[in-house]
Amino acid sequence: MTITYKFRLYPKKAEQEKLETAREICRQTYNYLLAELDEGYTKNEIQNYLLDLKVCYPEMNDVHSKVLQMENQRLFGNLSSLVKLKKHGKKVGRLRFKGKNWFKTFTYNQSGFELIHLRAKKGILFLSKIGDIPIKLHRRVEGNIKNITVKKSNGRWYASISTDAVIKRVCGDKEIGIDVGIENYIYDSEGNVYENPKHFDNYHQELKTAQQSLSKKEKRSNSRIKARFRVAKIHERIANARDDFIHKLSTKLIRENKFIAIEKLNIKNLIGISYNAKNIADASWGKLSMYLHYKAENAGCVVQDVDPAYTTRDCNFCGHRNRKLFLWQRQFCCEKCNGELPRDYNSAINILVRGKELASLEKASNTGQLVQQVASMKAEATTST
Ligand SMILES: [Zn+2]
Repeated sequence: MTITYKFRLYPKKAEQEKLETAREICRQTYNYLLAELDEGYTKNEIQNYLLDLKVCYPEMNDVHSKVLQMENQRLFGNLSSLVKLKKHGKKVGRLRFKGKNWFKTFTYNQSGFELIHLRAKKGILFLSKIGDIPIKLHRRVEGNIKNITVKKSNGRWYASISTDAVIKRVCGDKEIGIDVGIENYIYDSEGNVYENPKHFDNYHQELKTAQQSLSKKEKRSNSRIKARFRVAKIHERIANARDDFIHKLSTKLIRENKFIAIEKLNIKNLIGISYNAKNIADASWGKLSMYLHYKAENAGCVVQDVDPAYTTRDCNFCGHRNRKLFLWQRQFCCEKCNGELPRDYNSAINILVRGKELASLEKASNTGQLVQQVASMKAEATTST
């Protein structure tokens, strides 16, 4: 797994204008190339067409040439993902021309940039045809830089820097089951509780005020644009805080364990039916599961998804299945053996047990297949001699 860093840029006015111009020229280039694609030209033919375009539109020379070539890559990348979706039976339209608000990034690939670390967290990012831009480097960039994507989001500029440095994670030696919930973000089978940070609540009042002020503004006025900007900024802060929390938690879990069983939730369905929709969306367990899976792969840890059906109702002392527990019943109490545990703790243990069963079944079926394959290869070899 290679590392991508995201840093904020602080361009001065002149550089800001150049960044805006570059973004606009890239957008127009993308649209010109898309028009050529509609005429049935191939990738290479369209690449060559870029040279003709530059003669007609000399302002294109204000953008680093490799950046424009990346628009051709982007076009064919979009095309191939469309084809993939179609293959999976999804209903897809066609590629569309990009309007001004739908074009936020452009990419320097392999060349046209230089990153200089200065003192403390300060640095300078040089971009060809744009100039020197101050950059806040909250981490040291390891490895060789492969490409840099410049993005404008809510009026701020960012650089995503991809390098060839490889992260090697190491996993721990424990085995846990994880139950997710609203009261506690997760509860594990060792009895550890990680509280729900409820980012949304922290920002709730601020967001409410900003939204109210937005709704009072006159349509198409300057003050409405500013108010909308404020709302978007708060949403962005919530998203960043949430992402940071999930990253730190997943890294910690991988570092401590070699086997993690986690309940598989259909988040989309949950949001549809639950009165707790806001909290569930805020907790974003889908992201946690995703981060766990990709970090585990790198660390040699196993993450097993488990169907959570009945995990809250089954007693992990005697195996008896209780009647349905209501959401307010926080304590599990077995009707048969009177065993008692916090509800989420009981579920977490059940999830671990079920996860281990599943994992060993999968392992057995994989080795079974292997044995069969070897047997059939041997049979083939003996018949052919
Ligand atoms: Zn029991």
